[in-house]
Amino acid sequence: MLNSTSQARRAIPAVDTLLRTAAFESLVHDFGRPLILECLRKLLGEQRRRLAAERIALAPDEDTLADECRARLSRAARPSLGPVFNLTGTVLHTNLGRALYPAEAVAAATQAMVRPVNLEYDIDGAGRGERDSHVEERLLRLTGAEAAVVVNNNAAAVYLALNTVAAGREVVVSRGELVEIGGAFRIPDIMASSGCILREIGTTNRTHPRDVEGAIGELTGALMKVHTSNYEIRGFTAEVGAAEMARIAHARSLPLIEDLGCGMLVDLEDFGLPHEPTPREAIAAGADLVTFSGDKLLGGPQCGVIVGRKDLVARVRKNPMKRALRLDKVRLAALEAVLALYDDPGRLAARLPTLRLLTRAEPEIAQQATRLCAAVQQAVGTSIEVRVVACASQIGSGALPVDTLASAGLRLSAVERRGTSIDGLATAFRRLPVPVIGRIRDDALWFDLRCLDAAQEEEFASQLSELQWAELQPAEPQRSRGGP
Ligand SMILES: *Cc1c(COP(=O)(O)O)cnc(C)c1O
Repeated sequence: MLNSTSQARRAIPAVDTLLRTAAFESLVHDFGRPLILECLRKLLGEQRRRLAAERIALAPDEDTLADECRARLSRAARPSLGPVFNLTGTVLHTNLGRALYPAEAVAAATQAMVRPVNLEYDIDGAGRGERDSHVEERLLRLTGAEAAVVVNNNAAAVYLALNTVAAGREVVVSRGELVEIGGAFRIPDIMASSGCILREIGTTNRTHPRDVEGAIGELTGALMKVHTSNYEIRGFTAEVGAAEMARIAHARSLPLIEDLGCGMLVDLEDFGLPHEPTPREAIAAGADLVTFSGDKLLGGPQCGVIVGRKDLVARVRKNPMKRALRLDKVRLAALEAVLALYDDPGRLAARLPTLRLLTRAEPEIAQQATRLCAAVQQAVGTSIEVRVVACASQIGSGALPVDTLASAGLRLSAVERRGTSIDGLATAFRRLPVPVIGRIRDDALWFDLRCLDAAQEEEFASQLSELQWAELQPAEPQRSRGGP
């Protein structure tokens, strides 16, 4: 006599039989046979072990198995990298991908992905076989420089500039400018990895021309200025400006490298925003090589730009590491399209997403918040109060660290503080199909709506019904967790 467990185990259908059923035929159609086989074998193995261990007599039927397979495969098929709602209040959020491509850049990038392109092919015999030539003229027009190269990001640009002009030599930098950007980019480290010797001068708050002069010796390879893009030194301060640094450098026949970080190509004040130093200003002040990012205020793809003196840029181009750090055709196409938008600065704020978000007026954002308030309130239930509030957006990515933009949004706070977890609420919003990412401050979850594009407002509102928020009702008294 067989006992009930082995009878049940026997009742688990064979893989071949299962695959011939209608439920599994449809799965094979959707996911392909190899994945279904792998999933099914694993699932049946688990069932056999469960039946043996728990002595339960019921083997799952084919529909239950098919449903479980579909659920597992759908989960596994979900892309790891996907869209989110950036309601953090930081427009250029490095962890959320920084600048968004304008439609023109998407179109250009798509063409470059799916069709052959003249990336390094001299079509008109004008001697252009160089990939950077597709963007160089525009970069020169926008910065006033003599030559330009583009690479993977600004960290690569700084590395290449330093390594090309000053490897094995000292580079003079003020102690007030030894910047760290998000942990991975630190001036002392990039200096070391590019083969240069950091020569710190001055103090954290004050550096004088005599400090620069006094540090220059036989070993000096370059002077450097770094834009303190994510902090500000205030109070009793003194800085040697780019023009003064350039004068000192040129008197000793040394190059001045300036790392600008952001590199907005037009004056932000024209758009009612605070001033940010531009590459044109740095070149005009006398910097010989200027580096900046493509995906910060410039509003383009991730890349780094080096503009400056023709002879130095030519040496950068010949650096063997240039090839390792060069830009691919897709981002190059996107960059060309973005730079083309700068031909018409009057329409830039309408066409460049970064600038469009930065220049959104507070009353318009507040109206949006008012429109969405009731829907969010309904989704979170009565234990949470949702209010339309004024807030302050940041530009982010090391631009204008202390300036903020007047904005509006929603503030979600617990009606009764005890027992309601704002962290849990934030997690629930992050688990929506398109994760909603806000910011926790003062025991509340804040959604700054500056970056909620009108085109995505409907999507934002309609997925709220899927919010899995356990503390919908404040009814049950919370158990004490114990301890202080
Ligand atoms: C952002 C920044 C960098 C790094 O640029 P990436 O494009 O992120 O590599 C370097 N220097 C400064 C001053 C910056 O602001």
